[in-house]
Amino acid sequence: MQIYWTKINKIIEETPEVKTYLLDCPEGYTWEEGSHIHLALEGFNAGDKPNRSLIRHMSISTLPHENSIGITTRIREQCSEFKSILRNMEIGQEVAVFKTHSNVPLKREDKNVYLLSSGVGLATFRPLVLDYFERADNVNHIHSLNIDSSRDFLFTNIFESVPDKEFTSQFVDNRKDYYEEVKNLADDKDGLFYVVGSDEFLVQNIEVLREQGIKPEQIMLDKHEQSRPEFLNF
Ligand SMILES: Cc1cc2nc3c(=O)[nH]c(=O)nc-3n(C[C@H](O)[C@H](O)[C@H](O)COP(=O)(O)OP(=O)(O)OC[C@H]3O[C@@H](n4cnc5c(N)ncnc54)[C@H](O)[C@@H]3O)c2cc1C
Repeated sequence: MQIYWTKINKIIEETPEVKTYLLDCPEGYTWEEGSHIHLALEGFNAGDKPNRSLIRHMSISTLPHENSIGITTRIREQCSEFKSILRNMEIGQEVAVFKTHSNVPLKREDKNVYLLSSGVGLATFRPLVLDYFERADNVNHIHSLNIDSSRDFLFTNIFESVPDKEFTSQFVDNRKDYYEEVKNLADDKDGLFYVVGSDEFLVQNIEVLREQGIKPEQIMLDKHEQSRPEFLNF
């Protein structure tokens, strides 16, 4: 396994609680849309065993041609050791990235794609939407639905409906509106439904989608193939 140490080159304050860290792209390093990495902080491999409190899974919120690995995360006042270290990091400091993998590449199957997310879950979908804007082949339409009770919605310059490009985007701030909308979207019995958020969020979305007759193979989760059955009861 190759560990890449790389520098933070920019920190974007997306909202009062959400930051995007842009990391230099190590030479030869690439990824596909929907990818996540292991992000690790200095000292994570200092002992005999890796120190898990200094490692987190993070989605890559950028595409390779943006020339930076983007990591978008919410850092609340009360936070883990990992996030309190990250919060104080500055441009030029180093982090490690390793084990890149995408569970949720954009499926180009001539269908409508529904991107359902909660909070910073939207970061996982940013590169899918950018990839679609660059090349819409074999995707009929993309619709994004994001719930964020803080109302500080993310990436609103990209997640903005563009009818000409067959892209629509919706933000809601409460569960009632969110699940009502999921039910409406599930009227499309042939659509592909991507869901990103906490495990509890996945479970509730899957329940609503299944009740509406959406089949497990139409539901895409940011989970390894082996953990899908836990959620989808194949
Ligand atoms: C494939 C995959 C992709 C992912 N992508 C992303 C991503 O792009 N961005 C992202 O942010 N996360 C992502 N995650 C989740 C990420 O790995 C972390 O699990 C998540 O961000 C929580 O981080 P944390 O454990 O450092 O806790 P925190 O976010 O710091 O805390 C979690 C909760 O616990 C509370 N808490 C924590 N510590 C304390 C404390 N000491 N006292 C009181 N309350 C406390 C916090 O208030 C918060 O409500 C991804 C996970 C997977 C599996």
